[in-house]
Amino acid sequence: MAPETPGRETQETLSNLLREDRRFEPPADLAAAANVTAEAYEEAAQDRLAFWERAAERLTWEQRWETALDWKPPFAKWFVDGKLNVAYNCVDRHVEAGHGDKVAYFWEGEPGDSRTITYADLQKEVSKAANALTELGVGKGDRVAIYMPMIPELPVSLLACARIGAIHSVVFGGFSATALKSRIDDADAKLVITADGGFRRGAPSALKPTVDEAVADCPSIEHVLVVRRTGQEVAQTDKDVWWHDIVERQSAEHTPVAHDAEDPLFILYTSGTTGKPKGILHTTGGYLTQSAWTHHAVFDLKPESDIYWCTADIGWVTGHSYIVYGPLANGATSVIYEGTPDTPHRGRFWEIIQKYRVTILYTAPTAIRTFMKWGDDIPAKFDMSSLRVLGSVGEPINPEAYVWYREHIGGDRTPVVDTWWQTETGAIMISPLPGVTAAKPGAAMKPLPGIVADVVDDQAQSVPNGGGGFLVVREPWPSMLRTIWGDDQRYIDTYWSRFEGFYFPGDGAKKDEDGDLWLLGRVDDVMLVSGHNISTTEVESALVSHPKVAEAAVVGATDPVTTQAIVSFVILRGAAEEGEDIAKELRDHVSKTLGPIAKPRQILIVPELPKTRSGKIMRRLLRDVAENRSIGDVTTLADSSVMKLISEKLPSAA
Ligand code: ATP
Ligand code: MG
Repeated sequence: MAPETPGRETQETLSNLLREDRRFEPPADLAAAANVTAEAYEEAAQDRLAFWERAAERLTWEQRWETALDWKPPFAKWFVDGKLNVAYNCVDRHVEAGHGDKVAYFWEGEPGDSRTITYADLQKEVSKAANALTELGVGKGDRVAIYMPMIPELPVSLLACARIGAIHSVVFGGFSATALKSRIDDADAKLVITADGGFRRGAPSALKPTVDEAVADCPSIEHVLVVRRTGQEVAQTDKDVWWHDIVERQSAEHTPVAHDAEDPLFILYTSGTTGKPKGILHTTGGYLTQSAWTHHAVFDLKPESDIYWCTADIGWVTGHSYIVYGPLANGATSVIYEGTPDTPHRGRFWEIIQKYRVTILYTAPTAIRTFMKWGDDIPAKFDMSSLRVLGSVGEPINPEAYVWYREHIGGDRTPVVDTWWQTETGAIMISPLPGVTAAKPGAAMKPLPGIVADVVDDQAQSVPNGGGGFLVVREPWPSMLRTIWGDDQRYIDTYWSRFEGFYFPGDGAKKDEDGDLWLLGRVDDVMLVSGHNISTTEVESALVSHPKVAEAAVVGATDPVTTQAIVSFVILRGAAEEGEDIAKELRDHVSKTLGPIAKPRQILIVPELPKTRSGKIMRRLLRDVAENRSIGDVTTLADSSVMKLISEKLPSAA
């Protein structure tokens, strides 16, 4: 087959290989009582701005906005001239409404300690912390870096910043001193909030030494506010202030002042898979409107009866929008867990669900595939009959992982919502609604009401049903990023230049015959095989649909005949044996499932896959292995020893 191939940058469409006929209708009782029904799509289609104004009315505004949207592409202002305080919306208004005794957070420490924090407690803690920040000289518009374990002081710190109008920049606690320093410098932060350490994998894991190293050379930092969590010994510097010294002695009263709808709320650096991390800037009114509305709609959250648990780290956007801002704005009761899923045993998540009678669980495909690998018998030991909605975020979810999640965690009765969004979008954009959508395993289905997204070809033309290409968002949305901190030009170049007038998130997608959307991963990961653009996601999903496969990562390696050839890295399920014929069996399986064009040239059985700290597969490094190159920058890997394990397994990778 002669490859009459366009260059990678001129891909026109994506081949659409995967067929999936399973459907899961919403449970009748859920549909009958759903927060949001199919009418929402019609209402939003009739008048999108009026739809978002109604969503904004779910919040408490000190001053109502004049105009819903001021759009000077690509710069948006939502709810212009509106004023509100985010912390008041997340905390005080629930106390004023008589819900002070309601639990905001059930917090579970890794060693087994726990704390129950009501909305009234939260109001006191946030007020004290806000007073302490003021005493430390932090004011409106100042930047505060937050580098903490998953302890209650973390959401308290975010809310204290929001309350006084300081801009938080949370840096995930697994990042290095260099990464922390570059984020502090980029935002010119004045204060760092941290802890001595947190508990990970059964042991205290230090954070403070990393902060000391980062801050040694950060002139903008005036103070380091330190929570004592593990009791580890920490070196003291003259910038250090203990949380228990300064916060505890503050007044528990603090009057929130209203901020402008477009005042910045936070900066969050994207995980930086490639290039210099981007400081994604979110503002106040639009962000809270959409994070709260989507949490209400996509999870069907009933604040009176649900116990909601999002397992993300608050260091990622998922934690910002769906542990802190969305759930609290809705008056939800949430679980927060400090540690890892395998401490002290591999059933820890299910034990937590059983203990708190969790009704809604929101987690990531990487976690689900790990649980599949550990075996079905582990979740089977726990009572998870309380669960009623399951969510997935972070990567495309393979249909097989979706079905496993629904069956083994959701008892085959819970809808699974596959939610597509990004740090940049601030909140969920494409997702089923649990009381409305007949969901297909692996599909994010439809843009939410009020979101106008599409799949286009290289020429920005909408692809027909059955086609694939680039995901775009055609109209601004309330929780969209406003810019990249300090770099408007990079904002324009990165997101608004590929397709005139459209937001380009960098992801590939396809529309199936019904027009439903399937996300296919980053366009950088798309392979070009004999003139066909094939998504890594589809081949990975085909591999994962084989009963012996737990996880798979696929890359395109340069090939003299086919331009690129498909190379697969596969982790086998717990019980599966790594026999002689497994590679052939899997190659044939892919060929049968997707067609001969997608048949991998090579299958490599490996013990682990390289992942970012947020759990996403880093295909770039596997491409290096597949092409026999020396392996590139591994500093953003969660565990850099993984590449050594993989290389050891493959003395001659080719
Ligand atoms: P960086 O931009 O720094 O490389 P990142 O893109 O991994 O990091 P996030 O903003 O946390 O950082 O992740 C958003 C991306 O994750 C999306 O652009 C998409 O590629 C992927 N993603 C998230 N949710 C889904 C989903 N439900 N289905 C498919 N892909 C998803
Ligand atoms: Mg990204």
